[in-house]
This record gives sequence, C-alpha cells and structure tokens, in this order.
Amino acid sequence: MEFVDVGKLIRNLNPVNGCTIGCQYCYARRINDRFHITPVWENPQFIEARLKQLTTKKAHTYLMTSMSDFSDWREEWRQVVFARLAENSQHSYLFLTKRPEKITFQTDLQSVWMGVTVTADADKSRIGAMQAHIAAPHYFITFEPLFGPVNDLDLRGIGWVVIGTETGSRKGKIVAKKEWILAIAEKARELQIPVFMKKSLYDIVGEENMRQELPIDFK
Ligand code: SF4
Repeated sequence: MEFVDVGKLIRNLNPVNGCTIGCQYCYARRINDRFHITPVWENPQFIEARLKQLTTKKAHTYLMTSMSDFSDWREEWRQVVFARLAENSQHSYLFLTKRPEKITFQTDLQSVWMGVTVTADADKSRIGAMQAHIAAPHYFITFEPLFGPVNDLDLRGIGWVVIGTETGSRKGKIVAKKEWILAIAEKARELQIPVFMKKSLYDIVGEENMRQELPIDFK
C-alpha cells in the first residue's frame, strides 16, 4: 500500500506569519529565520496579498496556520480573511490553535474546520475549550507531535483526527509509542471519525495499522 505525505493533499496558505507561543520543536520559526519573512517572529504580521491565490477555480484544502497560531490573529485580520473565504467557498480551510481559551470566534462557513493541537494528556482540555470558545461547523484535532498517552479521550463532535510523531533531530526529541497512537485511533474508530496518520508513523505502527483517511467534504 502507498502512504502519502499530508503535504500532497493539503496546501499551506499563510496570511499571518509569526507566533508568540514558543514551542521548542517549532519548525515554522526556523523557516522564518531562514527566509526572513517576518522581522521579529514573536510579532506576527498580516500578509493580505497571500489571499490572492484563493481565486483559483480548482478546489483545494488549505491549512491557514502553518506559520502562526490562530489565537495570535487580530480581529481585523480575521474579518478580512473570513470575508475572502466566504467569496471562495470552492476550497476547504483548516485553522489550528494551541490556545483556544484565548479565542472568541464564530463562523458558519461550511468550508471552515477549526482545530487544536494536543501533544499529551495535559493538553486535552484544549478540545473542550475549542468547542466552548469557537463556534464552527467542523472541528478537528491534530495529535502531533505526540509526546505521551492521552487518556479518557472524548472525541464527540470531532470530525477528523491527525496523528504524527516528532521528526527532525532536536535534542530531546520524543518518538511516539505505538500504543499511544493506536489508543487514539481506536477512540476515533469507535465514533467513525476519519484518522490520518502521518507517513512517519509507518515504522512505528506497521502497515497493517496505518490509516490515512480524510473527511469526505475536504476539497
Ligand atoms: S504554535 Fe506552531 S508556529 Fe507557534 S511556536 Fe508552536 S509550532 Fe511554532
């Protein structure tokens, strides 16, 4: 069976560049340091011109926050971006945050998926916080990089689950354990939620356990 990189299915579009969260494993910051996109990484900038590419007729699924966290987006930026999304409903749009409790936001655009990152048990309250603070038609969770088991996981109301392990060569890098990954996948299976395991999990879980499923309404 052929397994794919998620980058082949989902495109990055980053109208905001920069982030105040400070994850040790952040690859986005390294990209910014290399290409000097935003002068001060902790001072996110809005780059409205990037929204021009949304006008293509061919439909895509876009991750809108691979170089930022949605909690850092100013209200005026959100208004501009979501007005453009409303005009371009041919695509699907994914947004991620690690601080849902800091956000008050709602959208009824069916093309929008709001998500949180959960790396271990201590983060799982983000799931309920997202549903409480952000009203959106679809929710997803990305368990990446997975640093530990997530116990008593409640996936009700979630439409997609992504699981990945830390990659790269960071000192202190944590490789996800098979049992952590399979426990999340099993919880999702009980609720018939599609699961996408990043290609890097192949060596950990084995081909027989790999799942690469997308929600049916992704473009
Ligand atoms: S939330 Fe994302 S962009 Fe921000 S520091 Fe963490 S990994 Fe980097």
